[in-house]
Amino acid sequence: MREETLAVVNLKKHFPINPTGWFRKQTQFIRAVDGVSFSIFEGECFGLVGESGSGKSVTAYTVMGVYTPSDGQVLFRGQDISMEVAKRPLSLKKEIQIVFQDPGSSLNPKRTVRQILEMPMRVHGLYKHRLEQRLKELLDMVELPASFLNKYPLTLGGGERQAVAIARAMATEPSLVILDEPTSALDVSVQAKIINDLMNLQQQHRLSYLFITHDLSLMRNVADRVAIIYLGKLCEIAQTQDFFNNPLHPYTQMLLSSVPVITEEEERLKPKRVLSVGEIPSPVNVPPGCSFHTRCHMAYDRCRQEDPIMREYKPGHWVRCHLYKEDSEASTVNSNRRD
Ligand code: SF4
Repeated sequence: MREETLAVVNLKKHFPINPTGWFRKQTQFIRAVDGVSFSIFEGECFGLVGESGSGKSVTAYTVMGVYTPSDGQVLFRGQDISMEVAKRPLSLKKEIQIVFQDPGSSLNPKRTVRQILEMPMRVHGLYKHRLEQRLKELLDMVELPASFLNKYPLTLGGGERQAVAIARAMATEPSLVILDEPTSALDVSVQAKIINDLMNLQQQHRLSYLFITHDLSLMRNVADRVAIIYLGKLCEIAQTQDFFNNPLHPYTQMLLSSVPVITEEEERLKPKRVLSVGEIPSPVNVPPGCSFHTRCHMAYDRCRQEDPIMREYKPGHWVRCHLYKEDSEASTVNSNRRD
């Protein structure tokens, strides 16, 4: 049985509005993450997919310790790390690393690649006696030559900068790497190279990935399991093949129906075109009931009154929708697929 690297349990992160002023009442909150639960196992790539503002990056930054949870727990190999990163033990900090979306802003332009890669190893007291060799190993992992050690980030291309950012994340030999849209700021021509590097590193070091993206096509190729997040709540979690071949949640079907496909097999499995109706509610005033009901073409009275809970519809396939209480009702939505 695979070891559980990360467990996120009923995680909430609410940001107060108008937080300044001694006497001002904080009565409203942006519910960026509102009760998210999932696990990531050793060597697994877990894809978290959502639109802008869905809460996927706030989830990642709360796991990372950039934000302190408003409620719920983050467990790393069973140990509670639900606190800001400064309060976490140094031995745990090295185990969780992150690769940001924009390597241009995540690398210090005044430091050379050597200084950038050395820093995490110096902080954690690693490779003191063979630092030079380790620096070359790190560049080799991302297929960059040793001559890059003396370059500055601004003299590198976007893909090379992101490769340096990946090498920096690997410097402390982490177990869990958070990938926050690692290719979305890059030219298409270098995206494949970065994805290949990441997948090779994952296999070689049995890394666990929390892969944040809005790109479902990418998830089909890299993730072991995929979860969809909408307005701070997970809608569906499934093994990747099951997720794409048998999407259950109306929101998942809506997203998948708009993804371009290449093969006839993919076209056959793709849900029929599901149009989005209505508006995305404000995360400050999330409507009662199912938060997706304002856009859901399957919504009925119950959806406007009662928030559904996550159910395991079949082994490993979880969905948060009233339509899936009974198997027979589920078939209603499955009929939405192309024949
Ligand atoms: Fe749509 Fe209702 Fe399911 Fe929400 S609970 S996704 S509104 S059918």
